[in-house]
Order: sequence, then C-alpha cells, then structure tokens
Amino acid sequence: MTTATQPRRPGSMNSTLIRDLQPHELPDIEMPACEVRPVLKGQKALVTGAGSGIGRGIAVALCAAGADVMVNYVGDEAAAGATVEEATHCGCTNRGRAIIHRADVSDEAQVTDMFRRIKDEFGTIDILVNNAGLQQDAPIEEMTLAQWSKVISVNLTGQFLCAREAIREFKRRGVRKDVSCAAGKIICISSVHEVIPWAGHVNYAASKGGVMLLMKSIAQEVAPWRIRVNSICPGAIRTPINRPAWETPAAYAELMKLIPYKRIGEVEDIARLAVWLASDEADYVTGASLFVDGGMTLYPGFEAGG
Ligand code: NAD
Repeated sequence: MTTATQPRRPGSMNSTLIRDLQPHELPDIEMPACEVRPVLKGQKALVTGAGSGIGRGIAVALCAAGADVMVNYVGDEAAAGATVEEATHCGCTNRGRAIIHRADVSDEAQVTDMFRRIKDEFGTIDILVNNAGLQQDAPIEEMTLAQWSKVISVNLTGQFLCAREAIREFKRRGVRKDVSCAAGKIICISSVHEVIPWAGHVNYAASKGGVMLLMKSIAQEVAPWRIRVNSICPGAIRTPINRPAWETPAAYAELMKLIPYKRIGEVEDIARLAVWLASDEADYVTGASLFVDGGMTLYPGFEAGG
C-alpha cells in the first residue's frame, strides 16, 4: 500500500506515477490486424442506429463476415447509405448485401414495420444488434421529464421492442441447421455504465442498467429455444456520441486517466466481438455482459491503493 509520505522513485511501480505516465513513456499503440472469416454466411441481420459510430462498424463487420444486413437509421439517410457503401465495398469476396430502413426504435408501429420489411427483403432474421442509443445529459435537479423519457424510450424501450419482434420470428422459424445451430442471436449494446454510476447522466445510466437485466431476463426466458442473448458493454469508443471526450489533446489526456490500457477504443474493437457473439463460435455464451473497455471497469481510480 502506498502512503502520502512514501517518496516517489522514477520508474518504480508507484501508483501515482502510473496514472501520470505520458504517452512517450509507454509502448507505441499497435492496432490488431485480424483476418475476416465468413462465419456468418447465409445469416440475416438487423443493426439499429447503424448510420454512424458503433452501429456502422458492426454493420460493416457483419456484412464482411457474410451476413445480409439491414442498416436501420432514424434521421440521416445519407449516413445510412454511407454505411451500406462501406459494407458492400469492403473487398471481402464472401460479403453479404446491405439495405437501409428508416425507423424510430422507440415507436412500436415503426418497429413492427421494420421487421415486416426485413422478412420481405431477406426472408427472416437471425441476428439482431440493438445498438441505437443517445444521451441527453443534465444535473438531476435540472433534468426535464422529456430528457428522462427520451433516453429511456430509445435506449431501453427500443431494445425491448426490437428484441420482442426478433424473438417472435426466431421462435416461429426455429433453427436452420444449414446456417447456425442457434435459432437466433440478440446482441444488446449496453455500456460500462450498466455498472458504473454516472453523475450528470442519470437517465443514460438508468437506461443501461435496465438493459443489463432486460438482456439477462430475456436470455433466461428464451435459452431453451436455442436463442442466445448477450450484451456488449463498451467503454470509451471514438464515435460522435462522446466527441468532446477525445477530440482535443487535453480531453484525450484526461480520458486516459480512466483507461488502464491507455488508448481509446475504436468501433472495430466492438465490431469484432459482435461478429464472434453472432457466430456459432460463441454457441455456449448467453446472458453475458462482455466489457470491451481497455480496463475502465477495473476502477483505475483505485490504482493508488484506495
Ligand atoms: P452514435 O451517436 O454514433 O450512434 C447512435 C446511433 O443511434 C445514431 O446513428 C443515432 O441516429 C441512432 N439513434 C438515435 N435515436 C434513434 C432512434 N430513436 N431510432 C433509431 N436510431 C436512433 O454513437 P455510438 O457511440 O455509436 O453509440 C452506439 C451505442 O453504443 C449506443 O447505444 C451507446 O449508448 C453505446 N455506447 C457508446 C459508447 C462510446 O463510447 N461511443 C460507450 C458505451 C456505449
């Protein structure tokens, strides 16, 4: 245990020094180069909120792994089109096809229509990625009911509505042995904030805490039908949702204090796990919250010994 009276020694494992290490004192960041394999050939997927950020990265990766992908968006049609463009020009010979569909995931009728369309276009659905989400931040005493309700409606109710439609189709159709040994897979994009409280963001943290038990309860309920339900819990990933946290060097340096692995996450870090979870390689994985956060949930604030 370190105490305030212990002297700091250069190069020692003094916890305060670890926290304050500068980038030039650490190994260079090497991003992984991973082989793309057609592990989702013949599968049909829906990714919500896939016009940007993590959703776009997942849609591109599922398509590259051979799945046909519906790219859901709510506002920016051109951005959704750019996701399709990226997915279908990824250079993979086994890639699937991709189409766009506009729907607000918090609107029951629009969600029902979206699932009708995916059946019309692709015949069925094998993989749902519940990704759409947003933040509307405010201190608790200033947060309006509209801000609370909007975040809960999109981040939590939207995941419920899409999961319900997907499960109806998975159960109706059952296992297609030529495609997958599971009848369906749902991947919920949650957050480290399903376990880390977040002052000033109570609506967001409550929505993600809700996603955790929504996911686990559904997983328990539908496992006998060979339907797998899991969550990916990202830490800080470089996307539009958290631009202020990484776009200036000062903000990035501040962010690194929360990340033991000392780099921000990229959408590919999340997308690779989504492909694996959707594939039969993850056949015995259900009801799990998988954290992809460079160690953010290791509580780095305690590196000085608490
Ligand atoms: P993003 O803002 O790029 O993506 C969110 C997407 O959801 C946008 O394309 C947006 O248009 C869409 N969306 C919003 N409301 C919608 C609605 N009603 N219907 C359909 N789509 C809607 O940000 P992102 O970082 O890619 O976020 C994706 C998911 O990842 C979110 O659920 C977010 O909470 C989660 N997440 C992100 C981070 C991060 O560091 N970026 C960390 C933890 C969790």
